[in-house]
Amino acid sequence: MGKLEELIISLPDVTKLKDFNVYPDSINQFEDSWVFMLKEEAADYIVATGNAAKFFLGKDFHSNSVSYVVAELNHENAKTLRKLFPFTAPTAVLDSDRTFGVGDRLGIACPGHIRVFKDYDARPIFAQQSIRELKLTNRTYANVLDAVTFSVFRDGYKLGFGADGDHLKTPEEIDYALDNGYTMITLDLSEHIRGGNGWERIELPEELKNRYLNCGFTVEGEKIVYDVDELKKCFHIYGEALKFAVKIYFEYIFKSERKINFEVSIDETSTPTTPAQHYFVANELNLAEVQLDTLAPRFCGEFQKGIDYIGDIEQFEKELKTHAAIARHFGYRLSIHSGSDKFSIFELIGKYTEGKFHVKTAGTNWLEAMRVVALKDPLLYREIHAFALEKFDEAKRFYYVTTDLNRIPKLEEVKDSDLPLYFENNDARQLIHITYGFILNAKNEDDSFRFKDRLYAFWRKHEDTYSDMINRHIGRHLKLLYAGKENLGGK
Ligand code: ZN
Repeated sequence: MGKLEELIISLPDVTKLKDFNVYPDSINQFEDSWVFMLKEEAADYIVATGNAAKFFLGKDFHSNSVSYVVAELNHENAKTLRKLFPFTAPTAVLDSDRTFGVGDRLGIACPGHIRVFKDYDARPIFAQQSIRELKLTNRTYANVLDAVTFSVFRDGYKLGFGADGDHLKTPEEIDYALDNGYTMITLDLSEHIRGGNGWERIELPEELKNRYLNCGFTVEGEKIVYDVDELKKCFHIYGEALKFAVKIYFEYIFKSERKINFEVSIDETSTPTTPAQHYFVANELNLAEVQLDTLAPRFCGEFQKGIDYIGDIEQFEKELKTHAAIARHFGYRLSIHSGSDKFSIFELIGKYTEGKFHVKTAGTNWLEAMRVVALKDPLLYREIHAFALEKFDEAKRFYYVTTDLNRIPKLEEVKDSDLPLYFENNDARQLIHITYGFILNAKNEDDSFRFKDRLYAFWRKHEDTYSDMINRHIGRHLKLLYAGKENLGGK
């Protein structure tokens, strides 16, 4: 009798699992058969027995006592898992008070994320990717979601997770995300938001004048008033964008047969969203009967990728308070974008949102993966760091950062054991952060990948270390958000 066969016959007795590298939390029953995941050196496999076997594409084995299939982790088999085990498929989770997006550009961070969300009641958005990120990593929405499905199955995370098509700008992009089963659409209005100039010349419709002038609005005790100039600015900046948002909502979200969470993002603009502008956008969407789950305003200060908040924290606190009140007034939650590493403001966010927030992170998961490289493979890290320095100017075109390369200690002056300290240095963090696409796509002369294959083999070998780091690092984010929520001052 083959060894795997012996194991299958003994299920659900798990005493034999150790001999086989079965992921213990992956053992699931489907009718009277078993489905579980097996770890081999280079890759993981799904094993499905009996009736379940016929749903998976793989290598079939039959004997007198048992039949089973050993199946690769590919797209077809991910679809099968989502059908047989609905907990591996995304759902619309934004009804929860607290949700947290963890974009995983590499498709390897989910096991670490699962560890985090076993400790916190915030619902995770395990699949969250913008089109820009897909392009820079050569991935697809199918591929991003499949990686999550396999991790959730493997580690037995059964509480539900979301999948966010992040920063989508066109109907085609929305179709693309929805066709792949995504359960949240973040509509980015930036291409329809007009810049500040020229507002003086705009004609205000009578309807808007009647609605906003000569009357104030009170939100949790705070007055929001409009004069002609303010209203003209609102209409000039957001008029077209609002039309677009309403159209997309009714064509895609409202009509959808399954429940889709809807976020509107107005964060990618050059100037902060004023309370009057936020109220105007929210009020107009509300009157048009658009149901928002979340809205991302552009806050004051700078939310640069992968580093702490830069700006006047008192000012931020004041504006956050009003933004949170407006969101509550209209029945949605604030969404905080570029939430990676904003440690100095998380408590405020937890506090003023009264514990009802959505926070998105992405880049920091990549940085933690590179921190593991710095820790465990100094030679490889040095090679990549030097390459990132070469590519920095090109990479800057994709991201707004204020990185000063002169503040990064020179490679030749840093001991191997100090390489992880680069990840405590904001300029070095941003250097590695924004060059991820270049690093992953770099090719040798023979067209093989310069770093990518080595990196993925490395990360597979050090998966446990990476998951620990993710757990600790993302956990720090949540800990502060929750501390703020606990700290409501008697509320
Ligand atoms: Zn954003």
